[in-house]
Amino acid sequence: MFENVKRTLRRSIARESLDFGDPEFLVQAELEALRDDERTIGPAGDARTKGEFRGNVFAGLSLREQLSLLPLIVGNFREMKRSYRGLDHTPTRDTIEEDELETLEARADELGVDSIGYTVVDREDILEDDVTDRSVLYQHAIVFSCPMDPEAVGEAPGYDTLETVNETYLDTGVVANKLADFLKERGFGAQADPGLGGKTNFPTLADRAGIGEYGRHGMIMTSENGITQRLGAVYTNIENLPTDSGERDDWVWEFCQQCGKCIRDCPADAIRVEPERTEGDNLSFYDRDACSEYFGANNGCAVCMSACPFNRVGYEALERNISSRSSDARETVSQTPRDDSGDASMRQVADLSSDLRTTTDREEIAAILEDLGRKPDNWAEFGTAFVASDVWGYSEVHIARGDDPEPHAPVVTLVR
Ligand code: SF4
Ligand code: SF4
Repeated sequence: MFENVKRTLRRSIARESLDFGDPEFLVQAELEALRDDERTIGPAGDARTKGEFRGNVFAGLSLREQLSLLPLIVGNFREMKRSYRGLDHTPTRDTIEEDELETLEARADELGVDSIGYTVVDREDILEDDVTDRSVLYQHAIVFSCPMDPEAVGEAPGYDTLETVNETYLDTGVVANKLADFLKERGFGAQADPGLGGKTNFPTLADRAGIGEYGRHGMIMTSENGITQRLGAVYTNIENLPTDSGERDDWVWEFCQQCGKCIRDCPADAIRVEPERTEGDNLSFYDRDACSEYFGANNGCAVCMSACPFNRVGYEALERNISSRSSDARETVSQTPRDDSGDASMRQVADLSSDLRTTTDREEIAAILEDLGRKPDNWAEFGTAFVASDVWGYSEVHIARGDDPEPHAPVVTLVR
């Protein structure tokens, strides 16, 4: 460990910037103990490999900014280290009472969790990498999300976004450790897994647990905070957790098919038009090498989060907008012409990047809205709408609430 600390210091001095490399050297002994524990469940042979950090996300920040992030980084390392404590605990129970589960959820709520769900971990969900055997002790998972500051995410890439990302990772670490302690005190087996350095593919678990829906950028969007949240987990031996994920918000994926903004805005062209099935039947939404290179060189990027209407407009407003659209309008959208390949989303992305026009001109917008049968005077009602307009000579009209100069002024993007 001391060798690693020295290497980290040397590298930071040489680069005149904080550079922590792989923080897992801090928990090397614990990882080895975990690997030797006969109860651990390892990744499947074709499990997904862990993504690597490349570059230094702190480079380009002023020394003052770097130092002000230091307490958050240290806090994240502390929670990561804590998550390995007490793993030799022997559980005495594996069934939870209804009122205990309610108390657990109330505790999570007090700690700032915005959504929580339950699932079973498959070996394909466990990440594999060259450095460590990532292993989990228990097969049942409590998955949760903690909210980020949407305004700070909207500033991506840069200091504000890095700060809220680190703050929220810290929240997931504190929550995971406290929920694990809560369970261990009551005789259950529990292993915390903070958001930073997770052992499993969190979006897959969150999707299966029903706490949110996938966006095209591969992140989960929750009804509480859309894209602006981070995930964490607690693995446990509790066998009767309610794993029924309930009704799904299928409209989210349909909306994504009409949007594609993250794909167009990604500066590294990393997000795939269609997700690919990869090792272990996992879904791959973006090219991890391309993302990681840009991410490492540009303060953790997050442009895809910032640009997403689920951040700019919000989940509820989008849902309201979708459900208020007439069936005619839905029909019109679904009949948007396809290219020869028959791939509507491919065509839309190609078109959108080549021929966009955005207007904030009130008169023009009012006329468009009138044409579409919408009330032009109630700007606050509009989330993002995707509608076809033959009259205006555009195949799609995107209406979003803009940020400036008034918070509810719409911005209309016309796609020819
Ligand atoms: S973080 Fe940046 S580079 Fe990576 S997928 Fe998102 S927008 Fe693209
Ligand atoms: S930017 Fe658009 S396509 Fe991408 S995840 Fe958000 S809503 Fe979906």
